[in-house]
Amino acid sequence: METTDWKNLGFGYTKTDYNVRCYFKDGKWGRLETHSSEDITMHMGATCLHYGQESFEGLKAFRGKDGKIRVFRMDENAKRMAQSAEGIRMEPVPEELFCEAVRKAIKLNERFVPPYESGASLYIRPLLIGTGPQIGVKPAKEFLFVVFVMPVGPYFKEGFKPTDLAIYREYDRAAPHGTGKFKVGGNYAASMAAGERAHEEGYSAVLYLDAKEKKYIDECGPANFFAIRGNQYITPRSTSILESITNKSLRQIATDLGLEVEVRPILEDELATFDEVGACGTAAVISPVKRIVDVEENKEYNYGVDPGKVSTKLYETLRGIQYGTVEDKHNWVQVIE
Ligand SMILES: *Cc1c(COP(=O)(O)O)cnc(C)c1O
Repeated sequence: METTDWKNLGFGYTKTDYNVRCYFKDGKWGRLETHSSEDITMHMGATCLHYGQESFEGLKAFRGKDGKIRVFRMDENAKRMAQSAEGIRMEPVPEELFCEAVRKAIKLNERFVPPYESGASLYIRPLLIGTGPQIGVKPAKEFLFVVFVMPVGPYFKEGFKPTDLAIYREYDRAAPHGTGKFKVGGNYAASMAAGERAHEEGYSAVLYLDAKEKKYIDECGPANFFAIRGNQYITPRSTSILESITNKSLRQIATDLGLEVEVRPILEDELATFDEVGACGTAAVISPVKRIVDVEENKEYNYGVDPGKVSTKLYETLRGIQYGTVEDKHNWVQVIE
């Protein structure tokens, strides 16, 4: 890949050399297999196709200044995928198998891990699907776990820049006791109409309110919400949001930096009191927010056109840990050798 223009890579699928797979059949996981084909074949009655038995993960590996490849908190992704699997009655992938598959997929595609200077990284996509057929609504008996990878560009090509979010009261992503806390495709299908509308109207994402009362902040389509007020890092507690590993890491960094961390329900009205607001997730680490518009209520909350000081410090610290330039005090990264 000597000719790859790493800096101009976007966030999208690109073919790499290999993917790794493991099949669950006859009550047990088989051996980890290496494939070069991008295709999978399955029964047309597979539960992932009919009833949404599907879960995925997203994590990244980074080439450090020292040339080493580091993967960030993959044990957390392994645990979360097991919880998602249990939540929709799929066979959980054992943590050791998950981590071995991720390491193997990175090693086999080492030439696609972008150089340090590019600011790009290797995106890793683990996927677990029900492949066994069921026409009655029942969990599959057979599952496929796949890990594939692709290089992705720096999220902020023009620098770390704030964007706008939209609140729409007429859409929900997930119900309070539904599947919002699991990383499953169904939640994403449920968010596409609102997401497309937001993009058409010039917003980068939708900020969802809680589905029941429409009073509290839940999360942004594929990212958690956080706010800074004075010395506080504030993020929602809700039964319908996905626990972001980035958010968990930022809470720890915030604590290390001497901020007070609050995890609690956040009323929409509080948006007016925050100094800084951001969305956080693996893709961007932090996407600072400049404006939130509550479209039906015709309300607007503004946070300034430049990223806030605290958000910037949090972003730089986490990126530094990932690229090996800031001390990894909490053992979050694993070097791939
Ligand atoms: C994956 C995801 C996030 C971000 O989680 P990270 O572990 O930080 O990448 C946030 N919200 C939703 C709904 C997600 O699916």
